[in-house]
Amino acid sequence: MAKINGGFLNLKENYLFIEIGRKVREYIEKNPDKPIIRMGIGDVTLPLAPIVVEAMEKAAAEMGVKETFRGYEDSGRGYPFLREAIAGYFKGFGVNLEPDEILISDGAKSDCGNITDIFSTDSVVMVSDPVYPVYVDSSIMNGKKIIYADATEQTGFAPVIPQNAKADIIYLCSPNNPTGSVFTKEQLKEWVDFALSNNAVIIYDSAYEAFISDARLPRSIFSIEGARKCAVEIGSLSKTAGFTGTRCGYTIVPKELEFYDDKGNSYSVLKYWSRRQGSKFNGVPYIVQRGAEAVFTPEGLRQTKESIDYYMENARIMTETFDALGISYTGGKNSPYIWFKCNMPSWDFFDLLLSQKQIVGTPGSGFGKNGEGMFRLTAFGTRENTIEAMKRVTELLSK
Ligand code: PLP
Repeated sequence: MAKINGGFLNLKENYLFIEIGRKVREYIEKNPDKPIIRMGIGDVTLPLAPIVVEAMEKAAAEMGVKETFRGYEDSGRGYPFLREAIAGYFKGFGVNLEPDEILISDGAKSDCGNITDIFSTDSVVMVSDPVYPVYVDSSIMNGKKIIYADATEQTGFAPVIPQNAKADIIYLCSPNNPTGSVFTKEQLKEWVDFALSNNAVIIYDSAYEAFISDARLPRSIFSIEGARKCAVEIGSLSKTAGFTGTRCGYTIVPKELEFYDDKGNSYSVLKYWSRRQGSKFNGVPYIVQRGAEAVFTPEGLRQTKESIDYYMENARIMTETFDALGISYTGGKNSPYIWFKCNMPSWDFFDLLLSQKQIVGTPGSGFGKNGEGMFRLTAFGTRENTIEAMKRVTELLSK
């Protein structure tokens, strides 16, 4: 008899985005003449940089020529040219990595979820509340126990290490989705020290690192002393370079990072993550990897920064609006998310914003109990929509 993995039965319905979709569809059906501004989704709106498109066109042409055609990639872990390009990028902000500590993937979401495979089922996973739901769902699917680190208004929505808590795996995300908060070096050091003292592994999701402009804030967990012994970092080109539909990410696993069996014997995390990927994943398309390589050239970084600057100007327009309204928020600086206090239950505010001002955002309560009373907007829209939306928000909230 084929039996279901019981973890799947413990998953909660993906209520948040289903419910948003349902409410928006209903509104549009009843009000076809009222155009909606979508500020809820985390997808980008600007196209790929020209240098990325050129690199992928060239690679596509190579695939059509016998001498340069490529089939399966040997290792499935990424071509050396891309791993070296990423190592060079990290060196640019002072983090030294060896190219073979970097494994290329089809995006951060897959790696954030799949990496739980290599850890024991009886691991205790700590996540923040509010949280990016992928960490929770993949741990539940794997039958792992989850505990929460509260991130509240009092801490600027930075998660705080719970007293006397023990964890084996710790998911951290900075700049954070949904709260927009960004760890300082001191805050991140506390987490590194906590992980080291628990023999735990931090899975550090840095999908939004490219949005950090304040040089005092860490772009990588590996800029913190001790992190190489307790952390894995997962990066993404989705928001950095508009790859949400092109798909490319990477996971960095330091060679000295170890985990243990029941008898206390230690094993290399890099070895087993490589083994897991080798068995279940056949690599990212050559064409995409050439496009990704182009992102990390000086001209690629210049072109992709133009898009990031565009989104961050949207974020500035948004934070200026909330400042003028006297509404407290986190994010919007060093982060494309603005997370603000809506002074009513999050879903009530969702309904109000949609029905009165035709703006779609994301209710904070969908990300955890500490998100109740909070609301998330993203800076990934067009300039025109952002300006118009902020005009409408001002009309609604200055009353
Ligand atoms: N991690 C975080 C925190 C995200 O917000 C997202 C996407 O929204 C991802 C990972 C997924 O990134 P990718 O498109 O590389 O799978």
